[in-house]
Amino acid sequence: MNLERVRELILSCKGSLNIYDLEFLRSFCEYFVRDNALSSFLNNILFGDLNRYGSSSIYDRKKGVIVIDEKAIESDIELLYKSYYISRCDERYKFSIFIFKIIHECTHVYQLPLMRSKKCQLLRDIFAHSLQVMDGYINLRGKKNSISSSMFYNANHDLFPTERHANLVAYDFLLSIIQSLYPDDIELISDILCLFDDSLCLGYHFDDEEISPLEEFYRLISRDDLFSSFSFQEYSDREKLMYGMPMDYLVYNKERMKILQMEE
Ligand SMILES: [Zn+2]
Repeated sequence: MNLERVRELILSCKGSLNIYDLEFLRSFCEYFVRDNALSSFLNNILFGDLNRYGSSSIYDRKKGVIVIDEKAIESDIELLYKSYYISRCDERYKFSIFIFKIIHECTHVYQLPLMRSKKCQLLRDIFAHSLQVMDGYINLRGKKNSISSSMFYNANHDLFPTERHANLVAYDFLLSIIQSLYPDDIELISDILCLFDDSLCLGYHFDDEEISPLEEFYRLISRDDLFSSFSFQEYSDREKLMYGMPMDYLVYNKERMKILQMEE
């Protein structure tokens, strides 16, 4: 995903950005769509009330729009601050979470052409299963149950392969932005690193039984059979970690440190 011009746009604002500025969002959308050839997947970024979705930002793939709910983002920012031991709830931190949210939704847009690519059959299947479960086909057995599916989605949100991928791409991007904008703000950088690491580790268990996030997701939807049929050989260690694929503990830890730029 090419985010270079979007990155330049953010850096040119030098952090003095009014984050809910429509002009900024329009340019953002324009650069993102053009540089990634996504005009058939994203028409606009809009502000709106997302109360009924129980979310602060969404990508509506049927309408091709990203919707941002400013008020809900403000409450998310507060909530995250209180529950994650974030150092300061100031403008820089708010700006960071806002950028994270937009890149997260943009990654969902990017996942659609990624799923069409012939190169990654497995990724296509994993993302397609994720979307089918979100659309109400729990267990993927053709029976739709939208009430329990939205409850299931909300309860297990970060374990969905599409969500894990969007979270990690967004944190990776955010970290590089913050390091460029505020290289001396160690507090903010370490807060972002903690959030990033939390998302990287989510779903990996290396105790008695080794489980990967992907395996946990397929267990939750009672489709262990699908998981057992996958082969992960062609993926690099970084890709395995980004997509939550099974990994040996030492390789997982080494790759995690590399991504968080904490190598010795
Ligand atoms: Zn998402």
